Amino acid sequence: MSARTDLLVVGAGAVGATAALALRRLGYTVQVLDAGAPVHAPEDSTVDARVFALSPASITWLQTLGLWPEIAARAQDYGGMRVWDAVSGSDIAFDAASLGLPRLGAIVENQAIVAAAQAGLDDVRYETRLAGLEEQDAGVRVQCEDGAVFEARYALLADGAGSPGRSALGIRTTGRDYGGRAVVCHVQAECGHDQTAWQRFLPNGPVALLPLFDGRVSVVWSTTTAEATSLLQLDDSAFAAALTEATAGRLGACTQPTARLAFALRRQTADRFTTARCVLLGDAAHVVHPLAGQGVNLGFDDARALVKVMGDKEAGLKPVARRRYERQRRAEITRMSLGIDALDRLFSTSNPALAALRGAGLHAVDVLGPVKRQFAEAALGAG
Ligand SMILES: Cc1cc2nc3c(=O)[nH]c(=O)nc-3n(C[C@H](O)[C@H](O)[C@H](O)COP(=O)(O)OP(=O)(O)OC[C@H]3O[C@@H](n4cnc5c(N)ncnc54)[C@H](O)[C@@H]3O)c2cc1C
Repeated sequence: MSARTDLLVVGAGAVGATAALALRRLGYTVQVLDAGAPVHAPEDSTVDARVFALSPASITWLQTLGLWPEIAARAQDYGGMRVWDAVSGSDIAFDAASLGLPRLGAIVENQAIVAAAQAGLDDVRYETRLAGLEEQDAGVRVQCEDGAVFEARYALLADGAGSPGRSALGIRTTGRDYGGRAVVCHVQAECGHDQTAWQRFLPNGPVALLPLFDGRVSVVWSTTTAEATSLLQLDDSAFAAALTEATAGRLGACTQPTARLAFALRRQTADRFTTARCVLLGDAAHVVHPLAGQGVNLGFDDARALVKVMGDKEAGLKPVARRRYERQRRAEITRMSLGIDALDRLFSTSNPALAALRGAGLHAVDVLGPVKRQFAEAALGAG
């Protein structure tokens, strides 16, 4: 058995690794476990299929941890956002300058963030999979598949959407299956991306083109399971043609798609984010639809909130701190999940009455300055 630490962080993905770095700085002794191998910085020409639209608040989080210089070369700032609707034809545009912001956010690969964060940690045991977790009066005891045992005062569970740690605690989840999948890949766009995030709402779901640092765009195409299956089966040129049509040729012809991946669209929230000795963070606590691009931003918000309530190392995670974390995070996750559900319902339909309503809604947001600012701040996590 290894030495008992203050904290055991299970999962060294973007959320767990950055939370571990921040809490170590507060003086906590930390042991991190991850089921995977160490993640290395991405190679020049290969861009991770999983990219994030980081909010200004998430960029600040990575800057505070000193990780941004390593990430910046693989990050693409975007100063504009265009959202338009295929059925009503309505259109809304945001730009950073008119909102008084230096940028709306940045598009970054998951791999670049995880590699930078893991490089800053010297206390990770890789290829080590949590198999069991037991809460005791004064701490937690974690058993791993390879027989290793770890003890700590508290465990932070950032072990992803399927969270074995959450299951070991018997915490259930509630949610909604949107009954579809998102297809992701990168493509070359004929007219370039203009440092803008583009999103078109189609009756089956939104298709987003996000600007990459190498001039290409990253595609997140949310649709029905049947359409996703056929998009995955198309050859490259047929897929590129379908994408050009789906985006109404707004960026010219889309060409040279990279290998396509797909993931299920669902909302999932853990019934509890804390127990006496454990805290859930990131996808282990909540999964949201990617249409608002908020998955990892919410996870970083969890980490920031946790650092705030655990600021006093001697106190650790007193019941009052746990309650504060639980209350704050649940309020934000509920607000975000319901907002995304409403957007999904409003946009994923070709019902003419709803199409007219969303057309009018988009137009109203576009012309009403203060409402538009509020809308953008909510969407960007900048509030
Ligand atoms: C293809 C794809 C595209 C996505 N695109 C977007 C997007 O555009 N925007 C967005 O905001 N979000 C997106 N998401 C969601 C986003 O990836 C997640 O919200 C984010 O990665 C959550 O980070 P995390 O650190 O909480 O979890 P994860 O990234 O899932 O990390 C969990 C970690 O836990 C480890 N682990 C798992 N089980 C165990 C175990 N038993 N023991 C020890 N360690 C374990 C894993 O190895 C992993 O390192 C996408 C997801 C996918 C799959």
